[in-house]
Amino acid sequence: MSIPGNGFEQAVARVRAEVAALHGELVRYGLVAWTAGNVSGRIPGTGYFVIKPSGVGYADLSPESLILCDPDGGPVAGSQDAGLSPSSDTAAHAYVYRNMPGTGGVVHTHSPYATAWAARGETIPCVLTAMADEFGGEIPVGPFAIIGDDSIGRGIVSTLQGHRSRAVLMRNHGPFTIGRDARDAVKAAVMLEDVARTVHFARQLGEPLPIEPAHIDALFERYQNVYGQQPAATPSSSGVH
Ligand SMILES: [Zn+2]
Repeated sequence: MSIPGNGFEQAVARVRAEVAALHGELVRYGLVAWTAGNVSGRIPGTGYFVIKPSGVGYADLSPESLILCDPDGGPVAGSQDAGLSPSSDTAAHAYVYRNMPGTGGVVHTHSPYATAWAARGETIPCVLTAMADEFGGEIPVGPFAIIGDDSIGRGIVSTLQGHRSRAVLMRNHGPFTIGRDARDAVKAAVMLEDVARTVHFARQLGEPLPIEPAHIDALFERYQNVYGQQPAATPSSSGVH
């Protein structure tokens, strides 16, 4: 596949800047240790995406150090900074972009509370309105998968397709989250860790109370469609998130 024209370079520059800045959010929210974890963002309207380089510290990330990858996850020639190679999770991100066309961002962390649930292979039950709002139900567990080929990507897609949740706990590994763009996927990673911690605390003193499915549906519907600032109707508005 050739590189698309018509503003592609400008779009790549915009996504590079966005994804580089979003990596700082993983650090700010305590979701990552050392160089673990990664954010990627799709170049809108294409199968291309930019992703964190492998083994680079968060403080050393710049927009230019991110790796532009083709839809198969291969680095685009000439895009790499000083010979950096893309994240070892690139194949998983590429598989998600190829198979979930509505996904514009993917995040992977080993955030401790979510990963503790993954270590037990236990879904996080929907016992908080915040979970119903953000994820529309429980957080599902994906299969055990070895890094290096499509198996992590296949596990993410098979678990999340047809599911409201934007987060999956890959068994014995940790969470992957998706979103309509990279920022939305980072938000899901932050909110996931928050609810994983709270439900963990709740279980220390008893069994959390379930929420009726009809109430989960209503909360999810309201939050996805009504909550927050709606973009102004004027075309000049940049919208508010
Ligand atoms: Zn990992």
